[in-house]
Amino acid sequence: MSEIAYIEYNYIGEIAGLILAGLILCAMVYTKPKNTYVYKYIFGGMILSVIAILIHISILVVANNPDEYFNNEVFLGQLLCFLLVYNGVLYCIFSYVNMMSIVRRSQRKEFFVMYSILSVVYVLGVIIEIASRNFYKRDLTGIDITHFTRYYCGAGIVCAIICFNATLTNLKDVSRVIWDAVSIVVPVDAMILVAQMFCVGRFNSIFSSMTYVPVFALGYMLFHSNPYDEITGCQNAFGLDAYLTKHLGKKKLYICYITLMLPRIEKLWMEDNDLTLKGVAICRAMESISLKLKMYRVSENRYVNVLETDNENEFFRCVNSIRGVLDGAKSDLTSPFNYRIVAGEVYEEINNLLKCRQYFEYVARRFRDQNSSYFYITIPRDYDDFLEEFEISGALEDIRNKLDFEDERILVYAQPIYNVETGSFRVAEALTRLKIGNKIINPDKFIPIAEDTGTIHAITCIVLDKVCKAIDSFVEFYDFDAISINISSKEISHHNINSEIFDILDKYDFDLSKLRFEITESAMFDSYNQANENMTSLTRAGIQFYLDDFGTGYSSLERVMDCPVRTIKFDKTLLYKSLDDDRMDDILRYMIEVFKKNGFNTVIEGVEDESQNQYSVERGFDYIQGYHYAKPEPIEEVKKYFTRITKF
Ligand code: C2E
Ligand code: CA
Ligand code: CA
Repeated sequence: MSEIAYIEYNYIGEIAGLILAGLILCAMVYTKPKNTYVYKYIFGGMILSVIAILIHISILVVANNPDEYFNNEVFLGQLLCFLLVYNGVLYCIFSYVNMMSIVRRSQRKEFFVMYSILSVVYVLGVIIEIASRNFYKRDLTGIDITHFTRYYCGAGIVCAIICFNATLTNLKDVSRVIWDAVSIVVPVDAMILVAQMFCVGRFNSIFSSMTYVPVFALGYMLFHSNPYDEITGCQNAFGLDAYLTKHLGKKKLYICYITLMLPRIEKLWMEDNDLTLKGVAICRAMESISLKLKMYRVSENRYVNVLETDNENEFFRCVNSIRGVLDGAKSDLTSPFNYRIVAGEVYEEINNLLKCRQYFEYVARRFRDQNSSYFYITIPRDYDDFLEEFEISGALEDIRNKLDFEDERILVYAQPIYNVETGSFRVAEALTRLKIGNKIINPDKFIPIAEDTGTIHAITCIVLDKVCKAIDSFVEFYDFDAISINISSKEISHHNINSEIFDILDKYDFDLSKLRFEITESAMFDSYNQANENMTSLTRAGIQFYLDDFGTGYSSLERVMDCPVRTIKFDKTLLYKSLDDDRMDDILRYMIEVFKKNGFNTVIEGVEDESQNQYSVERGFDYIQGYHYAKPEPIEEVKKYFTRITKF
């Protein structure tokens, strides 16, 4: 038997690469990932990969059957096309790996120049190879493309080495995941390329697409894919972000913001409960309302449905169907659950993601304490209210981030408090205002926002410092007992609030009894132990506490007696009610008596006119605070109510 050197390339590896590339490309188109700076390299690279593989397969088909398909010019054209597209693929990998490092992004011009030079070398190499006529050898039994294959694999290895080196020299600027991926994938790739160079001559098998398709697939999976939730089949918050980033301000959208007060679906799942199926059925039913309705699960129990339409009626139809699904589920399920739906148009002005998210969260928050199901369609007024809150929360966050004790946006006012016995003013309460532009915002508006956004503590620190500064400037020249500041109930139970307070107090050397704190009942009862501990150590340092807004909470007199406070500030509503209602008057009378008997001082707030003043004096309050005596003024002004110390 004579040996025939019959060439038949096996390109199963390329077919596999083609299938993989096709699948990933479909996933990329379907999941609509966020269009980030580097995503275009992955997406473009994947398209080029598909083209490269198709050309490569066509080359192999011709190489395997030269007698049927061979035409010298066309074949040469195929080879050149492949080499160019392959160069494009390498460019995408190269750029992707490098641009993942922010530092490299700033040097992208240099990179482009460097890559262009490499490309020129590469193309020149091809021309020389072709001119020297050893690029491929044609035979009746097939075309030997060993040389061609080794040529481009060589280019691939050069690219791999450069990528590896670029990452290595840039190690401190790339994330660990990039380094891990590069340090595994690049050597593996280089090995496959070497194997390809070897195998093409020995076993006639071609699998070079396995060196680039997985690279893009990996990049996509790690950084750009938006996974779907396995149980509900919803995309996650990143998917929603990607969608909104792309469409906000360009298309008319409606959003339906749903909060389900249902046990977690995952939890039900573990309990293998029939409820799970019903919970999931809610998602299925919502999804099937309209093909245009996109459903996202943005947190444990929050779902966002987005509808893209110009037709308002379609929106109403959809939200009503959603409501119907939830009402149906409610009556169907044995365990109780509630939902809150806030739905509405995404106004044109809502042109960025943050604003959009915060707007719906803002409206939804209004109903968070609701104990029943709630369905609400937003109105334009909501957006105006939101804008105001958005402005306030933005300013508060900025204040917190800068934490400048001199911040001029925090204005400290103070209101003197009248001492009934002496007929003079010896104490005052500091009250904060927020200044944004020319507007002065009252604490009733911004304090709750500060508490919600976690900026309250910064505000307290700044106010504390400003009040200390004022006290420091008064002590030498004015005779007064103290200035009090309001501490939010959320703060006093925080474990390291004291050390932060003392950090500020340490800067001043006036007697700490000149400073007092006002806290509300809720501070005492939410997490009693920690709050009590904090208050005790502050009291030991000389700072007295007032119990503020007494009469608005639900606490019993007995519990209040246990608080480490010396002074009780009765809320103004208690005064107004007592003036109207004899039974309330009796209760007030009794409470004052009990407090006095137990050694507490009593203050009444909100005294606006002479009749209220008269009443307060008769009932025996020790101190009176209200517009009747003075309104809050900038804190520097409050000294005029105190007596000046005369020096001899
Ligand atoms: P509050 O502690 O009960 O303060 C008394 C409020 O009553 C002040 O409102 C004061 O201006 C107002 N007021 C005084 N006299 C009268 C009067 O005769 N009639 C009426 N109707 N009101 C009177 P303001 O300054 O708007 O403060 C509102 C609330 O905001 C304060 O209530 C306090 O709880 C809170 N707050 C103010 N500043 C701060 C702060 O720096 N930190 C914290 N956490 N809360 C603050
Ligand atoms: Ca107060
Ligand atoms: Ca009060």
